[in-house]
Amino acid sequence: MSTILIRNGTLVTMDPANTIVRGDLLIAGGRISGVGGSGQNADTVIDADGCAVIPGFVQTHIHLCQTIFRGAADDLALIDWLKQRVWPMEAAHSASSIKASARLGVAELIKGGTTCALTMETVNHTAEVFKVVEESGFRATVGKCMMDKGDEVPRALQEQTASSIEESLALLDEWHGKADGRIRYCFAPRFAISCTRELLEKVAELARARGVMIHTHASENRTECELVQQESGLRNVTYLDSLGLSGRHVALAHCVHLSNDEIKTLKTTGTNVVHCPSSNLKLGSGIAPIVQLMEAGVSVSLGADGAACNNRLDMFTEMRTAALLQKALHGPEVLPANRVLRMATIDGARAMGLDTQIGSIETGKRADLALVRLDRLHATPVSDVISALVYSAEAEDVDTVVIDGRLVMRDRKLLTLDEQETIADAGRESQRLTGDLS
Ligand SMILES: [Zn+2]
Repeated sequence: MSTILIRNGTLVTMDPANTIVRGDLLIAGGRISGVGGSGQNADTVIDADGCAVIPGFVQTHIHLCQTIFRGAADDLALIDWLKQRVWPMEAAHSASSIKASARLGVAELIKGGTTCALTMETVNHTAEVFKVVEESGFRATVGKCMMDKGDEVPRALQEQTASSIEESLALLDEWHGKADGRIRYCFAPRFAISCTRELLEKVAELARARGVMIHTHASENRTECELVQQESGLRNVTYLDSLGLSGRHVALAHCVHLSNDEIKTLKTTGTNVVHCPSSNLKLGSGIAPIVQLMEAGVSVSLGADGAACNNRLDMFTEMRTAALLQKALHGPEVLPANRVLRMATIDGARAMGLDTQIGSIETGKRADLALVRLDRLHATPVSDVISALVYSAEAEDVDTVVIDGRLVMRDRKLLTLDEQETIADAGRESQRLTGDLS
């Protein structure tokens, strides 16, 4: 594998003792092999003058299959949003529309500096998403959505418990650990009200036995929380915990409505919370108690959720929104820029069990990096690099992206996906999907 030298960069390492390092960064064999210093030679030399070199963003809650639903499900609350728009569109997906959607999502993520995602797909055609992750060079932990319960679920999304598990295990066997470990599998039961107790218990047992993550939604919306309470007699997080869906290998997206006991459970079990501030605001779900969770020592990372409810997959938007929301609630001192940048990088990597491999700039780690131009009008002057990244920068400022030591974007040109073709395919497939539904 070729070597890459990133020259003259401002390296944002995420090492608390030495966060900003000026100098060169060398990549060899897919790994970071030198940080700081100068004078090395390499097959490819990239000038990073005017750029911050950061660990690629890690988004811990995404739905690639929903990218082509962008703009087709606006201005609805969660349950109506699911029943009236998202489930019918997921049910209408074909292999080719899923592929177009996943390509559009991965292209947008890479162009905004995200190099790794935890993603929940739909019930069918998840193999297409894995193929897109493989061909694009992206890093992802992907799960087939599991749904064996619920009313008003379209026929194509209704599953039998046994076949849902069987299909998930087949995908796990085929894809987990592929592409040198860049691709991983997770179990992805949709949420408590879409899954039987039997399915959730089996998932809890299998995830532990097979050493993979569980990725689900929890306590996003008040109606959802009331339904879980009616059916189980327990609060949502307490119910999931009682079935074994808690622990360091579990990621719960949203966690907007929590009791103090649930926060304690999240802490004692080491369960990861994924904060999706834009999605929570747009669906009118509420504001997650991020400051309380962090003060309690709960793991919190960030995700854009899907394009159907955000409508962008942009970590800069999520970082800024997360910080501003909590400041409005608790005062300007909370969630300073360096804390938010950690949530967007190393904390996300840790939530995915990948913090020994990615999430910071350290010799020996896999080379997942983004070069962000800070010599732009809206970021000038740069009095503090981290402040510029969190409060001023935007996705368009990402210039070059490396994943697993491979250049996937240079000078804003995607190298593993054809941008024009991706846009054209997504437009065509979304028209076909909405045409089928009208
Ligand atoms: Zn979601």
